[in-house]
Amino acid sequence: MTLAHPSTLTLPENAPSGPCEGQSALMNPDPANVLGVHRAVEVCLGCPVFVECLTWVMALKDDRDPGGVIAGLTEPERHERRLNAGRTCTACGEHRAADQFGFHDRETGRRRAICKPCTQAANLARYHAQRRAA
Ligand code: SF4
Ligand SMILES: [Zn+2]
Repeated sequence: MTLAHPSTLTLPENAPSGPCEGQSALMNPDPANVLGVHRAVEVCLGCPVFVECLTWVMALKDDRDPGGVIAGLTEPERHERRLNAGRTCTACGEHRAADQFGFHDRETGRRRAICKPCTQAANLARYHAQRRAA
């Protein structure tokens, strides 16, 4: 399930809203339409809630991304940024750069949830356990 693009939201009165509000067609250009994409990006660049919007959209997982131009980025650009962003290792809890996680799937660029140091430590522990058992 995806969330609504900010341009389709009806915000409560006095809530900070972006200039994209009610501009759904403008903010969802055909990705092949370079001029259309530029126009949508320009709307975001003058937006008073740009930082809040960027923080919100980049915290979403790819399968929840509403699509269109959001916070000055196209959907493929947001996908790329998420892939390259650092993450928290599910084993040690450390926040590390993306290259500290091995690839889960090289084709899509998806990386593992457990960092390289934790993976190496687990491999070493397994190796010693096997040697002791032999
Ligand atoms: S940054 Fe862009 S998408 Fe986000 S609220 Fe502002 S105009 Fe809308
Ligand atoms: Zn770790």
